[in-house]
Amino acid sequence: MTTALPTIDGLLLDMDGVLTVSWEPLPGAVASFARLRAGGLAIRVITNTTSRSRETIAAGLRGAGFEIADDEVMSAALAAGAYLRDAHPGERVFLLGDAQRADLAGVQLVGLDDDPGVVLISGADESFDYATLNRVYRALLGGAAFVAMHRTMAWMTTDGICLDAGAYVVGLERAVGRPAVVTGKPSPSFFTAGLDALGLPAGRVAMVGDDMDSDVLAAQAVGIGGVLVRTGKFREDALDRAVGAPDRVVDSIVDVPALLGL
Ligand SMILES: [Mg+2]
Repeated sequence: MTTALPTIDGLLLDMDGVLTVSWEPLPGAVASFARLRAGGLAIRVITNTTSRSRETIAAGLRGAGFEIADDEVMSAALAAGAYLRDAHPGERVFLLGDAQRADLAGVQLVGLDDDPGVVLISGADESFDYATLNRVYRALLGGAAFVAMHRTMAWMTTDGICLDAGAYVVGLERAVGRPAVVTGKPSPSFFTAGLDALGLPAGRVAMVGDDMDSDVLAAQAVGIGGVLVRTGKFREDALDRAVGAPDRVVDSIVDVPALLGL
């Protein structure tokens, strides 16, 4: 029997692997989410999903049965748009991977032939081929700013686990000798934006995710409680390899209401 987490008034919930896999709700997730809502918790879904806009993510969750408003979803792509408008206004940006225009409003996207001042890396897809990555590498060596929506290594789908952009981001960082600015998880700024949205201090918030590094340890780094679920991409060896330990490990989101005394 796991003891309840004290004084938690808000939750940051990962989406993929916690609420859904391939946009299908995980068993019991819809009812558990409703119990958390009924318990009066402030909730934000905080996701590194980059292929859909905030509005379509929220609509997808509602379609799966989760009662959630558009502005209760925070995505790495939306954070990238905000960061670029603030830190690189008017600059030409090459986007590797896919993203929705709605998330990158006001950002000037160009091709690699157009001398981009910024390279922006989204989620991994078929466009991550050698020829393109090599040109990205050269653009970064030439001084282009290096921005990544996240550094997630993998995500789970109904077809199996998939390699994500983090593997490429880490390789490029090593190759060019400087770190990327990361806008989504595990960036501390993304979690503090989540706290701002909840209107709560870190000590009264828990993060629930299936990614040991990007969800649990990254949340703990800013003082948020870290709860790891054994769904989605979870693998037992992630616990063994990790440099820290979650505050709680539960079988799935179904166990979270009890963890909060609901
Ligand atoms: Mg996840």
